[in-house]
Amino acid sequence: MSDLTQVIAVINAGSSSLKFSLYEPQPDALRFLAGGQIEALFTAPRLIAHGADGGHVDLPVRTEAATLGHEAALDALIEFLRVHFTHHTLVAIGHRVVHGGARYARPVRVDAEVLAALERFIPLAPLHQPHNLALIRVVAARRPELAQVACFDTAFHRSQARVTQAFALPHEFAERGVLRYGFHGLSYEYIAQALPACDAKAATGRTVVLHLGNGASMCAMRAGRSVASTMGFTAVDGLPMGTRCGNLDPGVLLFCLDHLGMDARAIEKLVYQQSGLLGMSGISSDMRTLEASDDPRAREAIDIYIHRIGRELGSLAAALGGLDAIVFTAGIGQNSVALRERVCRDAAWLGVAIDPAANRAGEQRISTAASRVTVLVVPTDEELMIARHTRAVLEATAATRPSP
Ligand code: AMP
Repeated sequence: MSDLTQVIAVINAGSSSLKFSLYEPQPDALRFLAGGQIEALFTAPRLIAHGADGGHVDLPVRTEAATLGHEAALDALIEFLRVHFTHHTLVAIGHRVVHGGARYARPVRVDAEVLAALERFIPLAPLHQPHNLALIRVVAARRPELAQVACFDTAFHRSQARVTQAFALPHEFAERGVLRYGFHGLSYEYIAQALPACDAKAATGRTVVLHLGNGASMCAMRAGRSVASTMGFTAVDGLPMGTRCGNLDPGVLLFCLDHLGMDARAIEKLVYQQSGLLGMSGISSDMRTLEASDDPRAREAIDIYIHRIGRELGSLAAALGGLDAIVFTAGIGQNSVALRERVCRDAAWLGVAIDPAANRAGEQRISTAASRVTVLVVPTDEELMIARHTRAVLEATAATRPSP
């Protein structure tokens, strides 16, 4: 038997770059070894990495690869491991796959049949799914001995009731896959697993999690299971985001088509890339830049963002029949003191009372002792969630495989 230490790689493959993290399975944990990204996949690929101690550079930062695309990414990753983790061997890759359709409610080990099923979801997520699957295909062809596990952004929400998932369209649309799927599920699942150690009421009660990053959504959970979420058929629904518009009256799209001379691709660009904080402010999609700006449009973009969060919070509290806790997470949720304070003040009618000093001090619990609703700030870790799933799927497969 090999005495090499096993490594699980977590990969999030996009259109031109690929993010990765490496973990070493230990008896009760997964130890983060290194992470980074491979950029410019189709032009001049290079790998930038950091070790477990943050941005430290004793791990090499640059690897040129001879090939292009996802093949180059696989080569670069394997070369990075070979050079810098000489006593380690890659045993599995956990992939973030945006869409698991109505079929996959949990992660799955990928084989040819699963890959074919996942390809059928490409029309449901054309901007992400093809890139997620491209790397899976390359690995299957070139390193078939590596276990590959697909972990879905949609899976966590499959616990939602039928009335929550359905649109008010003729029923044959649901049969064609037009449903509210919900996204950011790996983040919500991570938070659900973290909550018991943070607060018993938040873990077992009616909790709304606000995942406010470049992409943004909110999820209503009862005892850690998804009951409703702001994202629907695609990841453009719900809250305004960095560059996505969120909820939009479908009449606006018809107006764009009929009267503004826009076609489907122009509308896609509008709603995914030119709207949200960027479009509203005309300045930036980055909350830090907007908070630092005294331009009235920057302030208005933040006002609209917070107004929409407040409305969704009311809607999700209604879906839960009350509210016991709210949890802020992701880049804006974890870092913007001002935004958390304003969202909580607007939610006073729901029984939320924020402790401004605790909020400023970066504490985990930022509600007052008297607040009816507990307010927490909990950092998310989607990569670790994928690594946990990958390990669990590997162990389950090993347990069910007949001994030789
Ligand atoms: P994510 O997609 O989770 O990495 O989040 C990215 C968003 O978090 C961007 O809009 C950033 O401006 C925002 N962000 C990160 N740090 C801060 C901060 N200290 N204050 C406000 N927003 C922040």
